[in-house]
Amino acid sequence: MNYQEIPFDILKKNKSPKIWDDYILEKYKCTNRFSDIKEGHKLLDELTIVHAYKEIAKTLYASGIEPNLIHQFHEYSTVIGSTGEALIELLIPDKELPVNNDGFDINFKGNYIEIKSTLVDKVSMSSSQYNTSDYLLIIKFHKGNGKFNCAWLAPMLIVKAYKNTRKPDSKQLATVNTERSTWVRGLKITLPRIRRFFINQDKILSTFKPCKKCYSTIVQSDNSINFRAMTEPCNTCAWEERYIYFTKGTPYSEVKENLFINKRQQTRKKIQQPHIRPSFLLSELNGQIFIDRSCLIRAIFNKDRIGLYFGRHSVVKTTGCTKGTVVYPFNELYDYMLEFLNINEQINEFHILYKSNGKIDFLVRTGMAPVKPGFIEESFLPEELPKPLRKALTLSQDVLYTLNDGTQKENNELYKKLMAITVAE
Ligand SMILES: [Zn+2]
Repeated sequence: MNYQEIPFDILKKNKSPKIWDDYILEKYKCTNRFSDIKEGHKLLDELTIVHAYKEIAKTLYASGIEPNLIHQFHEYSTVIGSTGEALIELLIPDKELPVNNDGFDINFKGNYIEIKSTLVDKVSMSSSQYNTSDYLLIIKFHKGNGKFNCAWLAPMLIVKAYKNTRKPDSKQLATVNTERSTWVRGLKITLPRIRRFFINQDKILSTFKPCKKCYSTIVQSDNSINFRAMTEPCNTCAWEERYIYFTKGTPYSEVKENLFINKRQQTRKKIQQPHIRPSFLLSELNGQIFIDRSCLIRAIFNKDRIGLYFGRHSVVKTTGCTKGTVVYPFNELYDYMLEFLNINEQINEFHILYKSNGKIDFLVRTGMAPVKPGFIEESFLPEELPKPLRKALTLSQDVLYTLNDGTQKENNELYKKLMAITVAE
């Protein structure tokens, strides 16, 4: 099987039937926009965006259709991210997976897999993903036609061997370039081989022996394993069989597996320390309100949407920014977002928008990646708001009023409507 080929028969076998399958196939004949497909079905539209898009991709794949990922407009990264995950979840199904794991996308029998879907050569992992995942799986879609192009499976033991100058507590993104780094090229893999890697390890262990050349470059004189050498091409050995042989087969596996597990437990412990909420100080510059230290809170006043935007990384701290007095207990709003997400992680971005369709949109992003983990976008009617969001809305009304210097935007109907909403405690 070549690198572009999709094993539709496997995907079909692994797809569980869903109530929206027929609807998706019918609707897809008229539009390939995932957002239109989601919005046109009541139950599908009640799911989170990522979940709904995964369901759409799964239905299409299971029917032998490669979803057209182009022309999704601003949502293309969510669409390709969800589609990549849908593809892998059908390829190596375990139990139904919860969305939004901390630092990885899929847990396959204890193996944490971080999936990066991309149209370009470079992918980046957050430090949490870098420290928590066992495998980085890169799914590349074709920039021009949006079809599946190829995949690379990079065990983190190998990634870390190549990035050994990186400090474990580094907050920088770890980037991997599939074209420029020769070692990544060595980890290219077909979809059926990915499946075999995760599902048939015992079979590989019972049949595979590395050739002499591989053995002598991978096993060093002190019997330790050279992980960098794992990516070197060989005419007789597939790299992933070599990897399983040396990491899962005895005697090589024992020492190293223990080392790895201990290290991982340490880093887990570290990232699970309770999240300390930042203390915000609002400042004003050129009419924009900043939260001290490169945070921005922006009031959005448009004809069709009104709300608040908070972005931790969106603005570089401007020198000469006059520190103002605290305008509002913004921390409280931040806490409601945390409560809504039910997580203990730093929030990097959120928005609360009241829109002309009468719904309130909440977007919260904790991870660095544009898609997952830590990305939630949901809309609610005011009367349907979960409790923390009811509080958040009330507070947003106050913050908007304050940021607006208390002046009613008389000509803005939406603003008046938003201010008129009262939600029960
Ligand atoms: Zn070999």
